[in-house]
Amino acid sequence: MNSIWLETFKYNKTFEKLDQNISCDVCIIGAGIFGLTCAYYLTKHGFNVAVLDRDDIGTKATGHTTAKITSQHGLIYKHLIDDYGLHFAKSYLYANQKAIDNIKGIIDTENISCDFNFENHCVYTTNAKDLKSIQDEINAVNSLDFNCEFVTKTGLPFDILGGICFKNQAQFHPYKYLCGLCNSISGRAKIFTHTTICDVKNNGSFYTSYSDNNYKIESKFVIMASHYPFINIPGFYFSKMYQSTSYLIAIETNKTLFKGMYLSASDPIFSFRTAKFKNKNLLLIGGADHKTGDSHNYSTTYGVLENIAKKYYPDCKILYHWNTRDCITLDKIPYIGLFSSNLPNFYIGTGFNKWGMTSSNVASNIIVDMINGKKNPYSFAFDSTRVNPIKNSDEFKNIIVQSSKSLIIDKLKKSNLQLDNISTNSGGIIEINGQKVGIYKSLDNKFFAVNPICTHLGCLLSWNDIDKTWDCPCHGSRFDYKGKSLYDPSFKDLEVFEI
Ligand SMILES: Cc1cc2nc3c(=O)[nH]c(=O)nc-3n(C[C@H](O)[C@H](O)[C@H](O)COP(=O)(O)OP(=O)(O)OC[C@H]3O[C@@H](n4cnc5c(N)ncnc54)[C@H](O)[C@@H]3O)c2cc1C
Repeated sequence: MNSIWLETFKYNKTFEKLDQNISCDVCIIGAGIFGLTCAYYLTKHGFNVAVLDRDDIGTKATGHTTAKITSQHGLIYKHLIDDYGLHFAKSYLYANQKAIDNIKGIIDTENISCDFNFENHCVYTTNAKDLKSIQDEINAVNSLDFNCEFVTKTGLPFDILGGICFKNQAQFHPYKYLCGLCNSISGRAKIFTHTTICDVKNNGSFYTSYSDNNYKIESKFVIMASHYPFINIPGFYFSKMYQSTSYLIAIETNKTLFKGMYLSASDPIFSFRTAKFKNKNLLLIGGADHKTGDSHNYSTTYGVLENIAKKYYPDCKILYHWNTRDCITLDKIPYIGLFSSNLPNFYIGTGFNKWGMTSSNVASNIIVDMINGKKNPYSFAFDSTRVNPIKNSDEFKNIIVQSSKSLIIDKLKKSNLQLDNISTNSGGIIEINGQKVGIYKSLDNKFFAVNPICTHLGCLLSWNDIDKTWDCPCHGSRFDYKGKSLYDPSFKDLEVFEI
């Protein structure tokens, strides 16, 4: 299911697949918001840049986001001050605030028409038990010399008990923005699509990136902008972040919609914004998040959002449904900087924790400064080589437990499902001669069989009955029912069985 963004705008440019060996100053792997923002700034600094994407530009996380541009990443600032101190929290806040100005600056300079508008963003609660956290967050944000307001009235169609509001945040159409970025760089950067990068090797003073069709890109610098890195060692990102999926719907209603953007303060988290659609506004409702690869069905995901829509807007028509996922770090702070301390000139920006609109801009500026040999005042707060997340977090243990479960325990468990029990348009894992086989039974009762073992690190995949895909509960890779790799970190297709 495609997002409102990909459905309502068609980009008039296409890019070629890489068909020869090339060399450049900087090889950027991935053409989402992070990769393209890096390319934008680097070409402005005169670097010769190549951007390569395994798909079309902007069609993965960025093409399916909610696209709120805000420094209010939930109730984060009290936690940042408590855990890392005022200077750290202030750096996080001002880096993200600056990102809002930077995005507006790019839009103005390049004349990108992308429905950008400033709106307030508010984290609200309807539960008395959360009011203290809201008040604590207000005190925390004020201590960072940043203005925020306590509000009890919003345009939302239900009463709130209180909320913390950041003024002059923004929202836009992310796909129009990315296409605008591509237009501004395409004379100055080489962009290749449908080109998967499978490996990157360090050859002393330069790097060689290898494409799936056996071409090489030689460059002094490499930026891994593939969302979840596909290189496991060094870096070890698979052990320090996981993917989380959330769902969105866009509804049309004759009721007057509110102004502003909203997020609930505690679970269940819901996100609200409006978006331009023809001559009117649609309402976007997001939420129902879960760890990617966990088993869910329509009623626990889109159903939850549809119930909210129907409760408050009984006349509503649901026009679009979509979902995507993002990388969540163990300490909820992105990883930005060197891919590994052993690999000079090889950079990464990942783990944007569902706040990648501003975080990707922060990341691009930090990395461009690193490439230019310039000190960035915010880089210390996001250092990708930090070890604290692993040392401190219970979530690290959770990742290891989940990985061991899917890598070893679940593989040993016998599946009770039989071929005859698989419903039409559904799937599951059966056993044939002791071998696990992933089966999908199509609407016309054809069977599609794959080896349900993730090609990234070998975890047992789980069937996703909402999207009819095979998803990895360890690291979030996704494959279609025919075994084609759809989402990072995997890039190799599943083995297909005849049945
Ligand atoms: C439901 C949801 C709602 C969200 N809402 C918001 C929001 O309101 N505000 C906000 O700030 N953030 C939000 N986010 C987060 C934001 O969408 C992401 O952080 C951001 O889009 C990530 O951008 P990216 O460029 O890193 O990744 P992507 O957009 O996924 O780009 C990565 C690119 O790399 C390519 N690629 C992958 N592997 C390879 C390879 N081996 N070779 C070549 N190319 C490769 C992919 O095809 C892809 O195009 C949300 C996230 C979710 C899940």
